[in-house]
Amino acid sequence: MKARRLLTEGRVRVLNANEDDGFVSAEVRGDSARIYTVSYDAGDNGWRCSCPTVGVCSHIRTVMLIVVCEPREAS
Ligand SMILES: [Zn+2]
Repeated sequence: MKARRLLTEGRVRVLNANEDDGFVSAEVRGDSARIYTVSYDAGDNGWRCSCPTVGVCSHIRTVMLIVVCEPREAS
Protein backbone atom coordinates (compact mmCIF):
# COMPACT_ATOMS: atom_id res chain seq x y z
CA MET A 1 0.00 0.00 0.00
CA LYS A 2 1.65 3.17 -1.18
CA ALA A 3 0.15 5.42 1.48
CA ARG A 4 1.53 3.25 4.28
CA ARG A 5 4.96 3.23 2.65
CA LEU A 6 4.97 7.02 2.38
CA LEU A 7 4.11 7.19 6.06
CA THR A 8 6.77 4.72 7.22
CA GLU A 9 9.38 6.52 5.12
CA GLY A 10 8.69 9.71 7.02
CA ARG A 11 7.31 11.62 4.05
CA VAL A 12 4.56 13.35 6.01
CA ARG A 13 4.79 16.57 7.95
CA VAL A 14 1.65 17.77 9.68
CA LEU A 15 1.53 21.55 9.55
CA ASN A 16 -1.70 22.25 11.34
CA ALA A 17 -4.36 20.17 13.03
CA ASN A 18 -7.24 21.93 14.70
CA GLU A 19 -9.69 19.51 16.20
CA ASP A 20 -12.24 22.19 17.09
CA ASP A 21 -12.42 23.61 13.60
CA GLY A 22 -12.07 20.25 11.89
CA PHE A 23 -9.14 21.49 9.87
CA VAL A 24 -5.94 19.66 9.01
CA SER A 25 -3.08 20.51 6.71
CA ALA A 26 0.04 18.49 5.96
CA GLU A 27 2.84 18.17 3.48
CA VAL A 28 3.62 14.89 1.78
CA ARG A 29 6.78 14.34 -0.23
CA GLY A 30 5.91 12.22 -3.22
CA ASP A 31 8.09 9.80 -5.15
CA SER A 32 9.31 12.54 -7.47
CA ALA A 33 10.50 14.52 -4.42
CA ARG A 34 7.81 17.09 -5.00
CA ILE A 35 6.03 18.35 -1.93
CA TYR A 36 2.26 18.16 -2.11
CA THR A 37 -0.01 19.96 0.30
CA VAL A 38 -2.91 17.96 1.69
CA SER A 39 -5.67 19.65 3.61
CA TYR A 40 -8.92 18.63 5.19
CA ASP A 41 -11.80 20.94 5.93
CA ALA A 42 -14.78 19.59 7.83
CA GLY A 43 -16.96 22.02 5.87
CA ASP A 44 -17.76 21.71 2.19
CA ASN A 45 -14.26 21.18 0.88
CA GLY A 46 -13.35 17.88 2.49
CA TRP A 47 -9.99 16.42 1.49
CA ARG A 48 -7.82 18.23 -1.00
CA CYS A 49 -4.37 17.69 -2.41
CA SER A 50 -2.24 19.92 -4.59
CA CYS A 51 -1.21 17.07 -6.89
CA PRO A 52 -2.87 16.58 -10.30
CA THR A 53 -4.62 13.35 -9.32
CA VAL A 54 -8.41 13.54 -9.39
CA GLY A 55 -10.15 12.20 -6.32
CA VAL A 56 -8.50 10.63 -3.29
CA CYS A 57 -4.81 10.26 -4.10
CA SER A 58 -2.10 8.40 -2.23
CA HIS A 59 -1.06 11.61 -0.45
CA ILE A 60 -4.52 12.07 1.00
CA ARG A 61 -4.61 8.41 1.99
CA THR A 62 -1.29 8.86 3.77
CA VAL A 63 -2.57 11.74 5.88
CA MET A 64 -5.79 9.81 6.54
CA LEU A 65 -3.68 7.11 8.18
CA ILE A 66 -2.55 9.44 10.94
CA VAL A 67 -5.45 11.84 11.29
CA VAL A 68 -8.94 10.98 12.45
CA CYS A 69 -11.19 13.83 11.41
CA GLU A 70 -14.63 12.38 11.75
CA PRO A 71 -16.00 11.77 15.22
CA ARG A 72 -16.48 8.06 15.78
CA GLU A 73 -19.68 6.96 17.42
CA ALA A 74 -19.17 4.69 20.38
CA SER A 75 -21.12 1.53 19.77
ZN1 LIG B 1 -2.01 14.00 -3.97
